[in-house]
Amino acid sequence: MMDEEMIHQRGLLQDLTFSGVEAGVVAAGLRPAHAKTVWRALHRDLVGAWSEVPDFSPATRGWLAGQELDFPGQAVEVVSSDGWTRKFLLRLADGREIETVLMGFTGRHTVCLSSQVGCAMGCVFCATGQGGFTRHLRPGEIVAQVRHARRALRALGVAGPRNLVLMGMGEPLHNYEAVMTALEIITDTRGFNIGPAGISISTVGIVPGIIRLADERRPYNLAVSLHGADDTERSALVPVNRRWPLADLMTACRYYGQATGRRIFFEWTLVAGKNDTPETARRLIELLRGLDAHINLIPLNPTQGFGGAATHAEAVIAFKDVIRAAGFPCTVRQRRGIDVAAGCGQLQATASRLAAAL
Ligand code: SAH
Ligand code: SF4
Repeated sequence: MMDEEMIHQRGLLQDLTFSGVEAGVVAAGLRPAHAKTVWRALHRDLVGAWSEVPDFSPATRGWLAGQELDFPGQAVEVVSSDGWTRKFLLRLADGREIETVLMGFTGRHTVCLSSQVGCAMGCVFCATGQGGFTRHLRPGEIVAQVRHARRALRALGVAGPRNLVLMGMGEPLHNYEAVMTALEIITDTRGFNIGPAGISISTVGIVPGIIRLADERRPYNLAVSLHGADDTERSALVPVNRRWPLADLMTACRYYGQATGRRIFFEWTLVAGKNDTPETARRLIELLRGLDAHINLIPLNPTQGFGGAATHAEAVIAFKDVIRAAGFPCTVRQRRGIDVAAGCGQLQATASRLAAAL
């Protein structure tokens, strides 16, 4: 129903799941089978205009004439000196800009997707948060980022990407509906066909969103940004902790773990002198006790609006050792694309435009 409403309001096929496209096709008096042809052109062959498809029936073509396509254009691309990280600055139809990061690893590619223009959560060390919130992305604008990356890889004769992380600009669970619709489109086997096991949603800790993911049995990986082991420590870095304090967040995580049987990934940005002592690591372990958890440590990346420093390499290892000794898997996230501000928490569209212009 929602899908049908959207098609009439905006005429944007790109925002619809397969069943939404099918409903549109049927409402236009066409046979439902035509939905598949349209879907394949859009999400498998990645056409840029309907005219690129030679085999639409005249009736389908007539209907499609009223279905505008709008893909964000690439305003800037920057490539890291590591040679494996590319950041795209994409311009949306209303002129707003977002960033998408394509990371190559041996044998696979991962795309870091944005879910909003800006972010309302205000984490102090995050460039996106420092810039404030502008608007939610539509499903089609999230899908378009995968399409952009896939076309970039295809130009090199490479397949993929196989992995997606919702760790770019924005808080995905603050834009729940659009993100879930986008992921339904992206995982559809008739189009992008990216397996849900290769998709991770990272949240700052929106408790109702975590419960909803569990209740709806969404088949994606969940990462929760923790960064603090008590409310004072966490609220200083992540203001939204005042709305959903640690006790509520951990209850939601336990519920999620029990309902889905899934492991939860916890992200921990290490800030020197704030949350990086072995003592903090021990409190973190207490918090996670009984959970199937993997801890991912992220040494702080520099941003303009935050003066904190990254934890020293030896202190990172000491922190990791405490967690591992307690039996939890713990890894340190590879630093990628810091030279082009493509690292975790560094995405801020206006800044990269400035950098590219210099
Ligand atoms: N809004 C979501 C996803 C985007 S941020 C979330 O907060 O989880 C992805 C990860 O990068 C989060 O764990 C976030 O806390 C972390 N991050 C933000 N700014 C950072 C910085 N300057 N250095 C290192 N990690 C950072
Ligand atoms: Fe938003 Fe995530 Fe940045 Fe916090 S870390 S401001 S939730 S994008």
